[in-house]
Amino acid sequence: MAKTWDAIVIGAGPAGLTAATYLSRAGLSTLVFKDKEGSNLLKVPMIGNWFAAPAGTTGPKLLRLGEQQTRKYGTRIVVEEVVKCRDCSLMSAADKKKHGVGKAHFMVVTEKSRYLTNALIIAVGMQIKSAGITNEFKYIGKGVAVCVACDGPFFKNKKVMIVGAGNLAASEALELLAHTSRVQINTNGASTLIEAGLKRKLKKAGVALVNKKVAAVTGAKWVEQVEFMDGTHERIQGLFLATGTASAVDFAKSMGLLMRDNSLEVDKFGRTSVAGVWAAGDVIGPPRQIGKSVGDGVRAAIDVIEQVRGGSYVDHRED
Ligand SMILES: Cc1cc2nc3c(=O)[nH]c(=O)nc-3n(C[C@H](O)[C@H](O)[C@H](O)COP(=O)(O)OP(=O)(O)OC[C@H]3O[C@@H](n4cnc5c(N)ncnc54)[C@H](O)[C@@H]3O)c2cc1C
Repeated sequence: MAKTWDAIVIGAGPAGLTAATYLSRAGLSTLVFKDKEGSNLLKVPMIGNWFAAPAGTTGPKLLRLGEQQTRKYGTRIVVEEVVKCRDCSLMSAADKKKHGVGKAHFMVVTEKSRYLTNALIIAVGMQIKSAGITNEFKYIGKGVAVCVACDGPFFKNKKVMIVGAGNLAASEALELLAHTSRVQINTNGASTLIEAGLKRKLKKAGVALVNKKVAAVTGAKWVEQVEFMDGTHERIQGLFLATGTASAVDFAKSMGLLMRDNSLEVDKFGRTSVAGVWAAGDVIGPPRQIGKSVGDGVRAAIDVIEQVRGGSYVDHRED
């Protein structure tokens, strides 16, 4: 019979690695998957709002240390993309026998192999949705940003264009006004979907709403201008992608997990709508921040530990 892990965590960002650390420290055998694209934090060269880092820190550094820490307690991290998760109770007896399922609750199917577990934590983050602009991802951290709460302070008094046609673009623009008054929204060829109340606020704050299709963003090292489809260009110092986030949870949907607003729905313990499956981090919705993802990971892991062991969570380890 194949090995059954106490817990499998899909995702090795702040949510998944934190959950794995709690699980392993509590003595649960824990397997973590990450894919080749990796955590959104890999794209973050400077973080100013993470706890106890007065000089700032970087995303790659946090991930390296996070992996090191959880491995110390026995977590195994595997680079394989999860393509499907199957509920073993819905499998035929022949299928169960074929895969050596035994009493396992879930089978996680990756591009290379199959793994069994009784508890599954989904922490796959959210992919940034492309606005279809040439070089948009090349300049992330170099003038292109995706989150005002994260990067707004880097754009103090700078001229910034927010690309997006919906309420996300409007609320990002209003938040950015705390750092610069030189803000415009470009709906990039789409008709605006911004609700009336937000539109009024934008007007009152003097945020221009334009509609010019952007072809590319360019600059030497940092963003310097946007080039439009009509051949004209405009000098800017920052560009925010506010087109919304794309879901990375197609396989989760296939398990019948309930979604709300493009996020997985969870209760106060981080449990999804399917027993034995938890979710944590950006995948369960805003605020999409490291601190909140870490907290989600803690919450889900403690609930898993309590369910596996029974009783309330107590941390007995001294290291
Ligand atoms: C440019 C930028 C700047 C940011 N700046 C800040 C900031 O200053 N402060 C802040 O608090 N937050 C910031 N954030 C947000 C922060 O990165 C996220 O909130 C955080 O990374 C979410 O953690 P997570 O664990 O939920 O997901 P992620 O960190 O995105 O990790 C997701 C994990 O899931 C894995 N994965 C996904 N799909 C699969 C699959 N099918 N199979 C296997 N593995 C899979 C990935 O490999 C990855 O390991 C920023 C984000 C961006 C993009």
